[in-house]
This record gives sequence, structure tokens and C-alpha cells, in this order.
Amino acid sequence: MRLPPALLPALLTGLLVSPLVPHAVSADPVAPPAPAVRDFGNGPERNEVAADVPERAEARAAARSEQAEQPGILSHDRGYPRRTRLPVPPENPADASIKLGLVPHHGIAPRLNDLQQRGDRVSAQVIGRSYGGRDLYLVTVTAPESAAETREQERIRDRIENDPAAAARDRKLVKRYKAPVFVNANIHGNEWEGTDAALRVIEELATSKDPKVADLLARTRLYFNITANPDGRVTGVRQNGAGFDLNRDFVTASQPEVRAMRQIMIDAQPVTMIDLHGYVNGTLIEPTTPPHGANYEYDLFIQNTYANGLGMEAAVNGLGYTVEKDGVYPAQIPFRDSAEGWDDWPPIFTPQYAPFHGAVAAHTVEIPLRVNGSDYTQLPVEELRRRSAINTDVAAAAIRSTYAFVRDRHDRLIADQIEVFRRGAAGEPSKTVPLGIVPGFGPEDVYTTTFPRAYVITGRRSEAAAARLVDHLIANDVRVERARHAFRADGRTYPAGSYVVDMRQPKRGLANVMLEAGADISPRVDAMYDISGWSHGLLWGAGVDGVTSLRVQADPVKAAAPTGSVPRTPGALALKVSDAKDVLALNDLLAQGTAVTWADGAAIVPASARQAAREVSERYGVVFTPAGTPADMASGAPLSQVRIAAAASADELFTLRELGFSVTPVSTAALNAGYDWSGTDVLFVSSGLSYTALNPAARTALDAFLTTGGVITRGGTGAAFNAAAGLLTATAVAGRGDANGVVRVLSTGGPVSGQVGGGSPDHSFVYSPRWFTGLGPEVTVEQSYAAEGPLVSGHWRPDADGTGGQDAARGQAAVVSGRDERGATVVLFGTEPMFRNHPKGLFPQVAKALYWASSVTGAAVKG
Ligand SMILES: [Zn+2]
Repeated sequence: MRLPPALLPALLTGLLVSPLVPHAVSADPVAPPAPAVRDFGNGPERNEVAADVPERAEARAAARSEQAEQPGILSHDRGYPRRTRLPVPPENPADASIKLGLVPHHGIAPRLNDLQQRGDRVSAQVIGRSYGGRDLYLVTVTAPESAAETREQERIRDRIENDPAAAARDRKLVKRYKAPVFVNANIHGNEWEGTDAALRVIEELATSKDPKVADLLARTRLYFNITANPDGRVTGVRQNGAGFDLNRDFVTASQPEVRAMRQIMIDAQPVTMIDLHGYVNGTLIEPTTPPHGANYEYDLFIQNTYANGLGMEAAVNGLGYTVEKDGVYPAQIPFRDSAEGWDDWPPIFTPQYAPFHGAVAAHTVEIPLRVNGSDYTQLPVEELRRRSAINTDVAAAAIRSTYAFVRDRHDRLIADQIEVFRRGAAGEPSKTVPLGIVPGFGPEDVYTTTFPRAYVITGRRSEAAAARLVDHLIANDVRVERARHAFRADGRTYPAGSYVVDMRQPKRGLANVMLEAGADISPRVDAMYDISGWSHGLLWGAGVDGVTSLRVQADPVKAAAPTGSVPRTPGALALKVSDAKDVLALNDLLAQGTAVTWADGAAIVPASARQAAREVSERYGVVFTPAGTPADMASGAPLSQVRIAAAASADELFTLRELGFSVTPVSTAALNAGYDWSGTDVLFVSSGLSYTALNPAARTALDAFLTTGGVITRGGTGAAFNAAAGLLTATAVAGRGDANGVVRVLSTGGPVSGQVGGGSPDHSFVYSPRWFTGLGPEVTVEQSYAAEGPLVSGHWRPDADGTGGQDAARGQAAVVSGRDERGATVVLFGTEPMFRNHPKGLFPQVAKALYWASSVTGAAVKG
């Protein structure tokens, strides 16, 4: 389910509590009033428990390689079935599924190998590997096809996407096309039964003699991602092996499992999808409450999604489970039954991402009976298995109901998918959905946006950042072009080689949801389910402009052009750290032992290391410039590899490692057990470390480190550490805990944010924002919240007592730095520069803090 484990016990004690805000017509007269959902991903102080994620070399390598276009996973030159012998993993008796009587990960491949032999309808393949290295399985169930028939299906799919106006005119097309349906299971590892239901349904379809099934498979292709998160399935946790919630990662695609799901949706182009979760009792079936994402073709989406939701509800209720006998409440549909709290605003969830690839019905389904968390460890095995059996029945009913829906509404769903792409390709304005288009669709449900004519992406901040954004768009199947010549738009001149995203394209909704600034929706809704703001346009470090006219000669690109250069002039070289690629290049140079100095946010590389500079420039696409005078260079401090001890959340550990830093996870317990500080240059604190909870020996050792080391903190845990350890003179003020989004910031100077390469971006990201007052004379304000807003997009209201709102944050210090009197170099972040690996343009700010903190104090002790 979408709720974090921390909130589960409170919200779902027993079977009684609906997680949604109370609604007028309760399906459940005996349920006590439900608390309003304030589920903000990981709670106000997210990830309280520090992550301890093992570093995997291959994952690191994969993360470092660009997310450029992946090869497709569905080949079109072979017919169906495609019987592939799947490799069987070694048996793992510790697989958490076994206790529930469910299929362990190692049991899936044998089942699929067997099902492929039992008829001619089932094809299975490995489409990738999880972070932890486990196989991901895609199963296609359809009536047999010759190679020519498969090619014809692909031609139709391509025409629907790429020539939708012609596809709309071709009356025969929808009749010939097999409607694609996507069933995604187990994206949260400890919500198991979608996998087992999928296997059950596949077996039914494989062996059924029912002519209706034959008819279904002649007119559809059913795709099953058997377990989207095998790491979590095996270990019985929500996240994957990297500690990421995969159902928050679709805008960023930092994880291999998400890139695999994305590719399924691009290649299969499903008209309908369901994402199977647990546990909400009664079964929760989307469509959602407002706010609704403004970039969908929502009139088409809500009609189909509501219709399938009602069908699934009837199927689930029709199983006959009751409150009295089984503890199973009737199903609920948030759109109909709740006012707020379960929205489809951020496209970070699978069913909120799928519509951009043509799904005109998409649903989260939450099966009812909890078997994870404390229930997993405390309930008798018999009870757990009773619940899992019911959950599997419910998930299977939802799947069957969905494919029956697609069979019955086949032509219309395909026509509606064509219409989604047609509107995009034609560049039609955002549609205002008529009230009452489905019962209950009111003014509170209406959200629209304005599409620019195009976006122009330039390397004016960083060539590498522009290239990253372009490759990310292309990996998301967004069309990008490159200007042949300089051109003008909206009064600005753009150089040849600028990238252009023409918004007249079939997937313009996806392009816009990533590149637009977003909206401040604080006034419109009380509570949001998860994040409310994101923006690749504002947070990824590239120059991105929406323009209202487009006259340019441009060519389509399959990948961003190579970047990087080293000046021909002899002498020392400067590498300005303005992008993650610059950080990687610098860390590579440091790992080679290159003598580098650090001054004003840039690394100075001596002329003698020119060859090494050339190599990393090519490897990472970074730009070196001529360094200043020898006198300038002498002002720098020697820099060596930064060794970090981090009490941090999983996304922060992942990001620091992705940047090429050496990171050792620590915690209160780790320090109390005795920690050798001699190999640490900088301590990063955001989670899981309390100074006051340290034992005397640990405190003494840490205090000794603080006379020479650097400290970087983030969030409430970090601010508490700063205060308890007596570092900088600063009072941290907490904004409202659920506030989040993109904020306007002003970089005001200091070693971290203010100086080089135009300083840091004008925007940052916050989640439970903080600011710093009562600053001592040793403290420098690096960055402050803008006097206007400061929220650009997201949700940020004051607390009930009127404090903690946007207006209270205006002009306040968001990031500060300084040296405490003992000598420690300290940077305090009130923003969230590494949140879920998303705001790529902010990563260099963290790196600069690390280099500064390490070079100023670390140099002396390293000798
Ligand atoms: Zn879930």
C-alpha cells in the first residue's frame, strides 16, 4: 500500500480503520471515525531509522551510467508463444513469502517454466534485474500469433502512438488490435499476494477450455509483471534492496526495477493497468480523490477508470467475504467515498505514470487483510495464511474483472487511447472536464494546465545537466530535437545545438509534467497523500524555458550529444562543480591521487595533470576552463578524497555513493559500539544519530573528531545534533511537517552556495522545511528562502496555530555554514537537496559542502 510502515500500526489497528478521511456515505457502519490521512511518504521526520544499505558495485555502475534510451523488451520479429526456459534461482528457505504460504521468489521461475509448457498461450521472459540482482519476470498471455501477426500488432501500436489522427480515421484498426492490459504485482515487497493472484490467473487462462477465454485472448494481450520488487518480497520489506520505495520513483527512475516497469509501459502501451497493493480493509480501488493531475486527458481517464473500479468492486464484494465471518469489509472507491487524502497528483506512482503512455484506466488496488509489519511477526501462521488466501482471492478477482472489462469495452478503450495521443500530437489545449461527466465529478475535481508551444533546454548552467535531462526525457519516450542553427523565441536567442521539446507530440502530458514548474495547490486541498511538487525543469540543473512560439529547424535525437572539453591553452585547469558529473569527475581525479586544490566552489588541477583531466572530461562529459592566476590558485586548500560517515536515509546514502563518495553508514548504536574516526573526514547527519544518546566514550571520540572534522546536517535530526553537540550558533525553526515542494531560493554567498558558476540554482526542494534564526557571528547564510512565495509548486500551509507556513519562512536562512570555535566546519541544510535522488541540480551543493568541510579542516590532519 502507499502508507509507510511507521504509520500502519496507528492507522490500521485491527481491521477496522479506513485510512481515508471520513466520508458522507460510509460503507462500514461499525468502523470508528478514521483519522485524516497525513501520510507524507515517510512522515514528517522521514526515515527516522538510519539506512544501512550495502554498497553494490554493479548497482553503482548502473546508477552512474546515463539513463539513456533502454532497448525495448518486447521483440516484434517473433510470434507468440515464446517459450523461454527461465533460469531457476537457488532455493532460499528464508524467503519471507514462505511463512504466508505464498510462492517464494525462487519458486516463480519453475512455475512459469511449467505454465509455458501447458498450452500455447503463455510466454515468460526476464526483463531485468532488481537492485539486489534478482530476476524480474514479464509474462505475456495471448492467443498464438505468427511472426507476421506480431509485426502487424506492432505496426498498429506504433500507428496509434505516432500517427493517431490516421489511426482514429481507420475504422478497422480497433477491431484488428489486441488491447494490451498490464497487471503489476508486489511493487511493495511486503504486500505479497498480487504475485500469487497473477500466477493463479495465468494458470486459469493457460488451461481454460472456456470459449470466452479464447475470445478474450484473441482480442487482448495480458502482461503480468509477476513481482516488481523481488528484493522486498524475499526480505519482507516495502522497499527494494537499495532502500527505495519503488512506487515513488517514476519521475526519477533511479532504480532498475522502475526502469523495467517504465519499459513495459512504453513497449506494451497498455490501455488499462492495475497495481496490486495491500492492505486496506475494505479493499481500496481507485479512481482517487482530488487533486487530480492536470496533465492527464482526465475526461477519458475518469470515465474508464471509474467504470472498471465499479466492476472490480462488484467482483470483490461478490466473493462473499463478510465482516462477521471473515473480517472483510466491503470495497471502497476513494473518488466516490472520500473527500480527500488519496489523490493522483504526483506521477510518482505506477497508475499515475501509466496514463502518459496511453492507459485510459489505471488503478491502485489495496487488498484487505494485513499480514505485514507486526502482524507478520506476531500472528499465528494459520491466521496469516487465512488472510493471505483471502487477499489472493481478492487480487485475483480484481485481475479477472479488469480483463473482462477490457474485453467488453475493447473498442472504446483503444479509441480513447488514440484520442489521448491525438490531442497531444495536435497540441490541443488542456481540456476542462465537464462537471458530472461521471456521478460526483464536481468543481473540486477540475484541474487544468497550460501547455507551452515548446520547451527549450540549454546548457547555460551546465552542459552535463542539459544532457542528463534530455536523456531522461528520451528514456521516457518523449521526443526531443536539436536546433541546427541559432533561433529566437519569446525574445530570447538560443544557440545552435539547443534542445527543443515540441509540445505537439503524443506524450506531451509526460513532457509537461516533468518540465513545467507545477502549481502551489495549498489553497485547494487540506491534505495530500505524498509529495505535491517536483520539477525536472527547475531542479535538475539544466536551463529550461517554456516558449509560446516555435520557428526552428531541428532534428530528432536518440540521445544527447556528447559534452565536455579541456581548453587548449597551457596551464592549470579549473573544474567548476555545477553538476553531479563534475562531482564524479573530481572524485575520480582524487581517487587517482591527482593533486587538486579547492577554492570558491571549483577544483584547480595543475598543468601536470592535464592528461588525467582530459580523460575524466571525456568519461563524464565535464568542462574544464583555464584556471586563474597562480596567486588565485595559491588561495585554495589541498583536497583529497572525502571519506564520509553518514547517519542518513537510504536515498541520501544512494545519492552520495552515486556521486562517487566513499560512505560508511553510522548510527547512534554504531558510535556507541566504538567507532574509529581516523578514516573519516566529514560526518553527515540527517537520521538515526542522537548526540545526547551517545555513551560517554562515544561522545569523547566524537568530540575529538569535531576539533578537526567537518559536519553536514539536514532536517530535524541534523538540527538537533548541531544544537546538542554545540556546533554553530543557530536556532532551527520547523515549518509544517507535511509541507513539501519546489521553493524559490536566493544564494547569498559563502563557500557552499554563493560563488562559482552562477552559484546554486534559484530553486530548491523542501520536505518538512526548516530555517535558521539567531545566527552567531561565526555563521554565514549560504542560501535563504525567497521573499516571494517561497513555494513555487507543492503544498505548504501554516500549522493550526498559524506558525510554520510559507510566510514565516520568507527571507529566512535555508542553508548556513560556519566554523565552530573548536574548529569543525559545519553546514546546516534546512532544505532537502537529495530527496529520493530527484533534485539532481541540487546534488552539487551537497558536494561543495563536503569538499569545503573536508578541505578546510581535513587537510591539516591528513598530512
Ligand atoms: Zn503498497
